[in-house]
Amino acid sequence: MNIISQIKSKFNKKEERTVIEPQREEMLFDAVNMDINNTCNQRCRFCFSSFWDKPVNMDADTFRKMIEVLPLVRDYAGGGYGFYISCIYEPTINPNFIECLNSLPEMAKRKCFFTTNLVRPMDEEYITDMISANVGLINISIESLRPERFEYITQNKKFHHYHNNLNMLERILKNRDDLPQFRFITMLLEENSDEIIDLIKYCQEHFPIMSHEIRTPYISVYDNMKWNESQLMSKQKVEKLTNEIKSLGYPVDMDIKSVDDLEILDDAPDESCGEENKTDFYAEARKRFSKVEDYEYLFLRINPDATCIDKIHNEPIPISRDDSRKFFEDKLFELYLNKAKASYCDDYAEINPTDGDAFILIDKLSRNDAYVEFTGWCCPDRKVDTDRLIIRLTGDNGDTHYYHASTRKRPDADEFKGKSEGWCGGFTTYIENDSLKDSTYSVDLLYEDTSGKTIRYSWENLVAIS
Ligand code: SF4
Repeated sequence: MNIISQIKSKFNKKEERTVIEPQREEMLFDAVNMDINNTCNQRCRFCFSSFWDKPVNMDADTFRKMIEVLPLVRDYAGGGYGFYISCIYEPTINPNFIECLNSLPEMAKRKCFFTTNLVRPMDEEYITDMISANVGLINISIESLRPERFEYITQNKKFHHYHNNLNMLERILKNRDDLPQFRFITMLLEENSDEIIDLIKYCQEHFPIMSHEIRTPYISVYDNMKWNESQLMSKQKVEKLTNEIKSLGYPVDMDIKSVDDLEILDDAPDESCGEENKTDFYAEARKRFSKVEDYEYLFLRINPDATCIDKIHNEPIPISRDDSRKFFEDKLFELYLNKAKASYCDDYAEINPTDGDAFILIDKLSRNDAYVEFTGWCCPDRKVDTDRLIIRLTGDNGDTHYYHASTRKRPDADEFKGKSEGWCGGFTTYIENDSLKDSTYSVDLLYEDTSGKTIRYSWENLVAIS
């Protein structure tokens, strides 16, 4: 229901309430980040990968079992979604790489991509095989086209291999039209900053690319942190360069941090401390929601030794080789179900709520195999704490449940309703399918007001569950 029809329904004098069927949604991993080996033929100074593990190369049989996950992965759509055949290591040094690529099904064109540094010695056949596979996108690293600089940044004395491969790829691409998309990625460093414009022009003029990504290295707790920090430029220099890049008119994605951004990050308040002081019923639920609603919650990491790491267990778990498809389906269901567990609210005691009178508008009512998602907002008729919310579901046969909700401010709703900033509250809750016994449910929002009293707001409609 859109906003207008929901408002009309509010003023509809009919006694009967509309029963709304949640929209069916597929359960999918947002991303699967795989690596088919665990090392690299370079040692880029900015790289955060670790190289001390015993080298492992995934074989093609194992690869075929791992790609059973493909139908369960969201299509590639940028923003980190899709299936990474290689994520943090270099795939071309795996001797089984081309055999693995050859086993990708047609659907992989919508989902799969990989990144290569293009440094391993390649011939025409190798490059042709690589670009003929069922992949949607190939990222190519390009840090410098000046031999000495390239070798300094990558700590690899094989610029001639890189250059040969790049020229060969250009020649081959000129005679093909059934190609995956290509994108170049350049790490912007103080070291190569005077070459960035030339690199962008070179890639655009020589290759049929969809875009060029320019970004600064990750700054975190890695061993090379000091070197990475030393490569960040001043704010003025970054501004000048980004303006120059924009004026080229090419499709360039920029994620560029300056030294000043680093200082802002250092000064950012540690919000976790504030939470500790008000650890209560609602704050505990907020912590659970922050984990399951994290942008990377539905990302699965697959290691070259056929183990995987998910966001619940955070440690490698062996993937069943007998029935890997079932393993991935179960893993996906477990992650979704765990999201619903964040909403569990078993110990809520409802005490004499007072009825309020206000709109509840629904942005999303959907259902998958694990839960019903209920997302919307409310504009209360009095001042309540919109972060202290419990959602009650009452079935047509009296089956009653209470759920926590993740809450947020809704400045758009404040504006729409002409309220002061922070008045209206948005919410989302996940209701485990198996916890519900009746076929239709009414929904009430139970907010606390500033004195701790419960104010109840009721949705106009009913949710159909069966
Ligand atoms: S090519 Fe990639 S994986 Fe290899 S060292 Fe450089 S950044 Fe790391």
